[in-house]
Amino acid sequence: MPEALEQWEEGLFGRLLPRHLAIIYEINRRFLDEVMARFPGDLERVRRMSLIAEDGAKRIRMAHLAVVGSHSVNGVAALHTELLRRRLLRDFAEIWPERFNNKTNGVTQRRWLHQANPALSRLVTEAIGERWLTDLDDLRRLEAHAEDAGFRETWLALKYGNKAVLAAWMDRALGIKVNPQSLFDVQVKRIHEYKRQLLNILRVVALWLRMKDAPERDWTPRVVLLGGKAAPGYFMAKLIIKLCHDVARAVNADESLKGRLKLVFLPNYGVSLAERIFPASDLSEQISTAGTEASGTGNMKFALNGALTIGTLDGANIEIRDAVGSDNIFIFGLTEKEVASMKASGYEPRAFYEADAEIRRVVDLLASGFFSPEEPRRFQPIVDGLLGGDPYLILADFASYLAAQERAEAFYRRRDAWAAASIRNVARMGFFSSDRTVRQYAEEIWKIRSLAS
Ligand SMILES: *Cc1c(COP(=O)(O)O)cnc(C)c1O
Repeated sequence: MPEALEQWEEGLFGRLLPRHLAIIYEINRRFLDEVMARFPGDLERVRRMSLIAEDGAKRIRMAHLAVVGSHSVNGVAALHTELLRRRLLRDFAEIWPERFNNKTNGVTQRRWLHQANPALSRLVTEAIGERWLTDLDDLRRLEAHAEDAGFRETWLALKYGNKAVLAAWMDRALGIKVNPQSLFDVQVKRIHEYKRQLLNILRVVALWLRMKDAPERDWTPRVVLLGGKAAPGYFMAKLIIKLCHDVARAVNADESLKGRLKLVFLPNYGVSLAERIFPASDLSEQISTAGTEASGTGNMKFALNGALTIGTLDGANIEIRDAVGSDNIFIFGLTEKEVASMKASGYEPRAFYEADAEIRRVVDLLASGFFSPEEPRRFQPIVDGLLGGDPYLILADFASYLAAQERAEAFYRRRDAWAAASIRNVARMGFFSSDRTVRQYAEEIWKIRSLAS
């Protein structure tokens, strides 16, 4: 996001690092000479590309400095690299196209499958041998086992076992009881508005209201798990955590649901907790506004552990969809292009609010103070954010998200089909090993040879 690109105020920079500032000015002088030689008279371009922003108080553009000083610049997923080339650093890519390249992130199967999920590691090794530990593409050979009914049964039983382990931990550590037969629907990642934990919580409210309207329907039991840390100064992120707790208090106490919906906030999310969570997940929530998540790696860890993704076409989700196939993932929402054009034409969240009774009901309930009777206006900043501008297009994607959740729920009931899709997700994760990523950095950027090859 452009607003996240660091820019340092020149005054501060000059007081702290006077010599560096002098050198940056010299780099800028030589660099802009080059730009002017390439594009004579194009002063607008010179202004855009300068290492110093001069609209208002002068600021040092750290990203521009980094690109000028580097021999290689990469995004961490295909879409992200394209956005760098076409939007964020377009002028730079025009001068130095050869400098720009993609390196899609990866995760290590040694930690995120072998260590974190010993039961699945054992089953995979029994099925195809242990080569996958150092060559993740070898997981392909699991593909055939998706056709094997006995293997699918074993696969589901193993997932159930992992869910029972996590449920026992939640009972022990948090005093919360959940039914491990439920669909474990999980969003764990840093709390950030662009990652849209708020969209997830609002959908829990919508689902809760639907269940209360039709308690007799045979709803698939769900446990929605949310976890992640907020930066200490990030007011909205902390308010979203508060909202999660307040909604959980209302939903979990509602006996009319007969335990078919639980919402749990998992505190102190970090790698150790992550290692417990991924093996026990059925559904992986990757729901950022398209164009905002550079890659994501949580998405890869979930899929490697047999969770199916519900997500937007953002970051590496796109490449995960390409790898696992559209039948084995739940995609919803606006694309990056649609987001850009909706914003350009003046996005009106109020229009979605007015047009959709379900959105209205959920937002009004928040605004009414229902979830925080002790402080009825607690979530007013969230309501104002949604109706005021909704920069992450939560209301625009809301209906599409709920529809995708319905597809996921219906598919989860087809246990055999779900198992096959889960096996195919794991079998097709080879590309997402960090071994592949590191190899590409070594060969294509650092130009060094592996000692192992
Ligand atoms: C993988 C991981 C992340 C990154 O998650 P994303 O969903 O890609 O944002 C963050 N924190 C921890 C502890 C992780 O293990």
